[in-house]
Amino acid sequence: MDFSWSDQQRELLDAVDRFAKEQLAYDMIENDRHAVFNHDAWMKCAGFGIHGLLVSEEYGGLGQDPITTVAALERLGYGCKDNGLLFSINAHMWTAIIPLVYNGSEAQKKKFLPGLCDGSIIGGNAMSEPNSGSDAFSLATTAVKKGDKYILNGSKIFVTNGPIADVLLVFAVTDKSKGASGLSAFLVEKDSPGLDLTHKIEKMGVRTSPMGEVFFTDCEVPAENLLGKEGAGSWLFTRSMTWERGCILAASVGTMQRLFETCIRYANERKQGGQAIGKFQQVAGKIVDMKMRIENSRHMLYQCAWAAGHRKAIYLEAAMAKLQISESWVKCCEDAIQIHGGYGYMVEYEVERELRDAIGSKLYSGTSEIQRNIIASLIGL
Ligand SMILES: Cc1cc2nc3c(=O)[nH]c(=O)nc-3n(C[C@H](O)[C@H](O)[C@H](O)COP(=O)(O)OP(=O)(O)OC[C@H]3O[C@@H](n4cnc5c(N)ncnc54)[C@H](O)[C@@H]3O)c2cc1C
Repeated sequence: MDFSWSDQQRELLDAVDRFAKEQLAYDMIENDRHAVFNHDAWMKCAGFGIHGLLVSEEYGGLGQDPITTVAALERLGYGCKDNGLLFSINAHMWTAIIPLVYNGSEAQKKKFLPGLCDGSIIGGNAMSEPNSGSDAFSLATTAVKKGDKYILNGSKIFVTNGPIADVLLVFAVTDKSKGASGLSAFLVEKDSPGLDLTHKIEKMGVRTSPMGEVFFTDCEVPAENLLGKEGAGSWLFTRSMTWERGCILAASVGTMQRLFETCIRYANERKQGGQAIGKFQQVAGKIVDMKMRIENSRHMLYQCAWAAGHRKAIYLEAAMAKLQISESWVKCCEDAIQIHGGYGYMVEYEVERELRDAIGSKLYSGTSEIQRNIIASLIGL
């Protein structure tokens, strides 16, 4: 594996640095407090090409490979403090765009991908239900074919981008007798009759990323919006979830790097007992641990993206990257608060928000316990 950048990659990564610094350095305290989704920043990111990093140019993307994509997202996470916006973008990329790229028909790709890339269409993924979370395939929402439509009934919970979505990838049971092989995936557009996207959910972190509950009451979906074949839902979900696990926390590696540099600055500036607190071994040790976590996280992220780019199976790499980065992110944030003392606990210092934003990463895209289950089964336990 060679992770040195070509001139072209370097150019793109430097451009992301500049873009984030110049366009995305807005005040976050009020946006977080009032859970404001920054649509202007969403469009700027799309305009730069972030949403379509992995999508081929034919459909409006930048046609980058996975490693360049995650490195660009890492730079974005370094430069942009709006973790909620980044989470919304990532949900859009990995749970809506990727399934379309790999499983969409030509007509579906032409219809949705250009808008998903230029930001005019907001996407998301609706799998979780009130009674099926980690055991995702035990979902209850049904889809029954009637003529040239499917009729969906049921509800979904915790849908990232749900309240602002133009299209959601919805998983439903088409043949209960077949278990996981009886699930199918549908591209449900926001104006579908019988679809209700209005129920917002307030959360602890990534508050600027809208989340909602979604209800389907005899919701009509044209048969041409079936993604992949009928019954391919669980396979399709597993495939896109693997991408999601491996890559959704790329920006968080950049976030950790920014937090790490903030802590070094603070530890050098803040004096107690006549010396900089960074000279205390227990403070320095925390920053060293941050460094170790970041390097390990980056390595696992790049390794996973490299393997994906070389068309290798990444089940193990993706679960390990997800587990490593999410747990590192939370620990880095806890350490950052501790290093900042009482100031770290105060909203003004913007470290407490980072912790609130980080904690969700141990829950979405499969909890840490589920990642450990996957890793255990893949290493022969
Ligand atoms: C910020 C955020 C964004 C989200 N976005 C989306 C989205 O866009 N679309 C979507 O469909 N869902 C989304 N989710 C939902 C997320 O995927 C689920 O919360 C997650 O899969 C866990 O399901 P659950 O909440 O029902 O918890 P449960 O599955 O009920 O788990 C509860 C606890 O039991 C543990 N547990 C469960 N099963 C096992 C097991 N087999 N072995 C060991 N421990 C186990 C879990 O690890 C957890 O600690 C989001 C969640 C969050 C927090």
